[in-house]
Amino acid sequence: TLSAREVGIRFGSTAALRGADIEIDRGELVAVMGPSGSGKSTLLHVLAGILRPDRGEIRLGGRRIDNLADGARSFLRLTSFGFVLQFGDLVPELSLRQNVELPLRLLKVRRTESRARAAALLRELEIEDLADRRPGEVSGGQAQRAAVARALVHRPAVVFADEPTGALDSAAGELVLDALTGLARQQGSAVVMVTHEARVAAYADRTVFLRDGRVAS
Ligand code: ATP
Ligand code: MG
Repeated sequence: TLSAREVGIRFGSTAALRGADIEIDRGELVAVMGPSGSGKSTLLHVLAGILRPDRGEIRLGGRRIDNLADGARSFLRLTSFGFVLQFGDLVPELSLRQNVELPLRLLKVRRTESRARAAALLRELEIEDLADRRPGEVSGGQAQRAAVARALVHRPAVVFADEPTGALDSAAGELVLDALTGLARQQGSAVVMVTHEARVAAYADRTVFLRDGRVAS
């Protein structure tokens, strides 16, 4: 279980989160909705240890993770979490395959094992033929599927997705969603997904609404 209690964070004079509470169970798929500026992306970043909250606490499996030292926090982030961002953040110089293998390289997983796991996901997501191309040489939907593969390859406890279909048409979006939700479920990863679309939220087990930096329901 990943939980946040009374989490607050400010950017200068803006209070982006003001006492947000959320609990995400193992294997659960949670959609996060709310108006622009309500704190959705900030909540994801705080939950994932990318941003440190000013107050409140975050626990993973009962253990406090918001107050870890920077090194321990980034290790936890790389090992326990995966990300799919709105506009993609694949490394442009690396092939799709190398991008997908990146988390495993950081975890020092053996080369053969890492190859095999990346290949299986690329196949599952139907982009194996494109594995040696760079992100700039494939379509947006194909690149986003590679990002999904990268977020899942190390079998993280939680996958965070910030509007993963935001830049895609509905067919490409559906492929990405099917992959993200189906594969995450298969391997028991929880998914926290920000979306503006009710159609996308329908994939989730439940939806939480953010308003003015708090979870409304
Ligand atoms: P959107 O739907 O537009 O993506 P959001 O719900 O994801 O919105 P956040 O990005 O979490 O909103 O931002 C919450 C508030 O915090 C906004 O008022 C935003 O302007 C502010 N904010 C977020 N990041 C920063 C930052 N790095 N510096 C200053 N203000 C920030
Ligand atoms: Mg956002």
